Amino acid sequence: MIEILLFVFGGVLALALALAALVSMTEKEARAAKMFMWMLIMVLALYALPLAFPEPLIMNALAILTAIWIAALLIALVPFNTFKIVSWDHPVMRIDERTIMFSRNLLQPGSKRFSEYYSIYPEHLEPDNAFRKNPGLLSEKSRYYSPDTFHAAASAFDVIEYLREMAEGKPSQCSTEIEPNAMTSFLESWSFKLGAHSFGVTALRDYHQYSIVGRGNQYGEPVELDHGFAIALTTEMDHEMVSYAPRGPIVMESARQYVNSGVIALKLATYIRSLGYEARAHVDGNYRVVCPLVAKDAGLGEIGRMGLLMTPKLGPRVRIAVVTTNMPLQVNKKTSDPSVIDFCLKCKKCADVCPSNAIQFDEPGIVDGIKRWKINQEACFTVWTKFGTDCGRCMSVCPYSHPDNLIHNMVRKGLKNSNAFRSAALKMDDVVYGRKPEPKKLKGWLAPGIISSEKTGLSGQ
Ligand code: SF4
Ligand code: SF4
Repeated sequence: MIEILLFVFGGVLALALALAALVSMTEKEARAAKMFMWMLIMVLALYALPLAFPEPLIMNALAILTAIWIAALLIALVPFNTFKIVSWDHPVMRIDERTIMFSRNLLQPGSKRFSEYYSIYPEHLEPDNAFRKNPGLLSEKSRYYSPDTFHAAASAFDVIEYLREMAEGKPSQCSTEIEPNAMTSFLESWSFKLGAHSFGVTALRDYHQYSIVGRGNQYGEPVELDHGFAIALTTEMDHEMVSYAPRGPIVMESARQYVNSGVIALKLATYIRSLGYEARAHVDGNYRVVCPLVAKDAGLGEIGRMGLLMTPKLGPRVRIAVVTTNMPLQVNKKTSDPSVIDFCLKCKKCADVCPSNAIQFDEPGIVDGIKRWKINQEACFTVWTKFGTDCGRCMSVCPYSHPDNLIHNMVRKGLKNSNAFRSAALKMDDVVYGRKPEPKKLKGWLAPGIISSEKTGLSGQ
């Protein structure tokens, strides 16, 4: 009887490992596929041992080993959670959009705006002078410049330039009555049809809004949105494109998803205005709100160690767009997931690979009156302007970034379930994918060399 049980357990384990190897191959994770294959060979050899040596000693040793494995599995599967941090505080003040790196990057030395800005924030001058010495985003002198991928990214950013113009508009004269529940679920289903990966609604809070506009024609004006609701939506960044980070495909993919998420937001905002309500789309380069804060309150995820929104199915591998409106909508019941923060406390993989040391290794500290992690945005942006891309190494190695499929979703369920599972899963992720996974080598249609010469370079994002 015991022999049969052992062979059944060994068979199930071998099947699970074979499936994991197969899935890793389809995900083009060569190291993971190899690791699972080795584990499969070891399990097969171990459980075939009694066939070659039918001695009680071998059988007993295998039975003890199997009992230990089953006990460990049960411990990991029992729902048991203790959290050091249950949820983040809300920000106590609004962020001045002029202080974000994209806005600072647009300041022209010698201009009135330049001297005004550094008279308000003199502490930013030195770090900003450091990134200004670098070639710049999408520059042909940058480290990872490749004409094909960089031009592709630049074209998408050019498209966004046009989209920004459509963010605002007047509501139509038509007066309609809507039922908030039904309208919210219509907008949600339509967003999914248009390509969104997640969708949520929150009441628009004061701290969601920037205090001062930092880009575009309204630079320097105070932000005042007279809207009661905010829709947040995400689109998925392609797993393979992200795995090439920090090379060209990462910035191509960022730009692509800025366009895709922006187009969905613009369609929703235009539709809402056509029904006679005010609506504003918040798309790349034309925001009045801090998208991750809105998305978090709309129930789409948590803010992790790397400062990005961590969604339940894709982790940070998303781009966010927002629509604010005065149309009454059904607000999501926000359910925090403290297991994400707890996993981040243990993991630190993003901090390990960050080329600029911008991500904290420590526990979250008090920043601007609230407890949270804060990345060093100056250090991060300085690396971007050296690489020419938006780097993305942190996003590419994050264990939550694995594809949205059955195997990874089972792991994600376990991560929510227990402390023990989170610790075991992190160890397993390190073994299978590596503690500091190397960026993937460009191949196939992304291999450099499609464009062999060019007459004009790219000026930067
Ligand atoms: S890599 Fe780890 S520590 Fe960093 S955000 Fe992802 S889960 Fe959190
Ligand atoms: S994008 Fe790169 S430099 Fe910036 S925090 Fe992530 S890993 Fe660090």
